Amino acid sequence: MRRATIHRDYWHTRLEINARQAIFHQWDQLERSGCIENFRIAAGKADGFREGWFFADSDAYKWLEAASRIWYSHPEPRLAILMDSLINLLTHAQMPDGYLFTYNQIHFPGVRWQNLQIEHELYCHGHLIEAGVSHFVATGRTDLLAIARGAADRIVADFRGKSAAYTPGHEEIEIALLRLHQVSQDDLVYLELARQFIEQRGRTPHFALSLLQQNRRVGRRRKLVQEKRREYLAGHPEFKPFQLPPGNHSPKQFNTPLRWYASALSGKYFQQHVPVRKQTVPVGHSVRFGYLETAVSLLARENGDRTLIPALEQAWERMVTRRMYVTGGIGSVPGLEGFGNDDELDPEYAYAETCAALASLFWNWEMAQLTGEAKYSELFEWQLYNAVAVGMGLDGTTYLYNNPLACHGEVSRQTWYGVPCCPSNLSRTWADLGRYIYSTALGKLRIHQYISSELCNETSLGEDGGTISANVMLESGLPWEGYTRIKIAPNPDQAVPFELQLRQPVWASEMRVLLNGKPIFTTSGNTDPKEATSSGYDPRPAVFIPICHAWDSGDEVEVEFDMPIRLRRAHPRVRGHRDKVAVTRGPLVYCLESVDNPDVDIFTTRLNPVTLEPVFDSSMLSGIFKLQGKTKEGTSLTFIPYFLWGNRGASQMTVWVNT
Ligand SMILES: [Zn+2]
Repeated sequence: MRRATIHRDYWHTRLEINARQAIFHQWDQLERSGCIENFRIAAGKADGFREGWFFADSDAYKWLEAASRIWYSHPEPRLAILMDSLINLLTHAQMPDGYLFTYNQIHFPGVRWQNLQIEHELYCHGHLIEAGVSHFVATGRTDLLAIARGAADRIVADFRGKSAAYTPGHEEIEIALLRLHQVSQDDLVYLELARQFIEQRGRTPHFALSLLQQNRRVGRRRKLVQEKRREYLAGHPEFKPFQLPPGNHSPKQFNTPLRWYASALSGKYFQQHVPVRKQTVPVGHSVRFGYLETAVSLLARENGDRTLIPALEQAWERMVTRRMYVTGGIGSVPGLEGFGNDDELDPEYAYAETCAALASLFWNWEMAQLTGEAKYSELFEWQLYNAVAVGMGLDGTTYLYNNPLACHGEVSRQTWYGVPCCPSNLSRTWADLGRYIYSTALGKLRIHQYISSELCNETSLGEDGGTISANVMLESGLPWEGYTRIKIAPNPDQAVPFELQLRQPVWASEMRVLLNGKPIFTTSGNTDPKEATSSGYDPRPAVFIPICHAWDSGDEVEVEFDMPIRLRRAHPRVRGHRDKVAVTRGPLVYCLESVDNPDVDIFTTRLNPVTLEPVFDSSMLSGIFKLQGKTKEGTSLTFIPYFLWGNRGASQMTVWVNT
């Protein structure tokens, strides 16, 4: 498994919670909600009623993927037993020809590949395949991979050569097939089918008509299931359905249903409106969008088709400048779970689903590899610390699904959701965080993220055809303090000069680099940007600073960042943000939470910006740098990092503050 080990400091603490709390809490919820039981029923090992959404299987697969990656660094028997029990169930639940989708197998035996825009069969199979790949990579075992290949081969047999009408409504299978291709390079069929799904997208004639027909059929099928459920409950009074905790009631725009219909019928909701090379504007459901862009960039990397790149770059630019919140969250229309118009960035309506931010991480990583540009790693970092990290509570057992930037009390962290897509998606990504820190290219070792970690025996081709082989040890004070130390120890037999590339973050006003104690690089002061994005996100592209050196054992690079408090302003064309600022420091967006500010109305109080200063508070939220300031009237104000809000019970919160 080629990735760095995260062994200390900030991310280590959070990953420990992920490995020791979150993954077991999620299993518990999957059991209690019937998601695991569904596989027992499909496997013929239990009688009962299949519960949950038609796409519920995907939650078990994402859990299995998270568990596999966690097991690699935390090989606990308790986790191995759960993983193996689920794999065993899947072995029995999978049909002999590779198909596995409990909704159809239990409720509609013999029926398959129905209503592909809505019912997520391919999406679920995609997550099964991804779980198989990750389990193989983490454990070296092939049992789950065999199940995944069985499913993939079924899909190849049933979909190869089919028309655009046979593309899925929720992208995911494309990523899965491309990842399967990466571990089975000899087999081009998976790459070819992923390419077909991607290239056929947006080409369905009469999409609206087909969607209406599918919607009607889906409704009929759901009604049948509900009738069966009523009958089952009447005949089985001992059956106790899972009770969800009371959910959130997020405010929505009044015209939400209309907008959904318009978006769906045009195909935009599913990114089915035009072929991918013409998709230059982010539209529709934001998780779907992120998965599509990830798949397209992966495809461009795998088959070298650079004609796919311009649309990806334009969509990225449009998202960052016009359709993204200052936190990096995407999706401003709750009813669509997706993108609104340019500059439509209401902080309270913000959907900004955790999964959408995760999808953007996957995409940005691929773009960074595809183009070598630092701006993608910069956004990755920003979204990781803000739009993603907010999704999991400090104890690992509470989650946010949508992530507003202002909350009057309607949204709070929940232990589980009716659609629990985010928790296991978070866990699988965090467990894989070591993969996103470094990359190598010809003669270069690139540092994308300043996350304390160790990279052992990383090898890559040197520019002279020799091999770079080095151990890298990175210590970072982020997200709280701006120091980083990098120790490089090349393998003495193979030492060759290579270029170390360090990302110069845009949030740092100054960056100094020292090699073995001697200053070798200092940026000139980085002031506030002249041009603004809609959200206030800094649009200036980050760059990689090259350090060329013949590395010797014991060489140490020190990097120091200035982390001034910065006030971000939304562009005047964004409604409701006049005279307001979002306060940031380093890679963190801060917010006011009512629990820390009982003496003011956080929505109307006026901040005196010159009073702000960072203060370390070891007793607050496991130890944080809070920002202490005063109102214009002199009352004290406490800002905490946005990603930590909601950890102390229901509260009110705002990112945007009056000045
Ligand atoms: Zn989600």
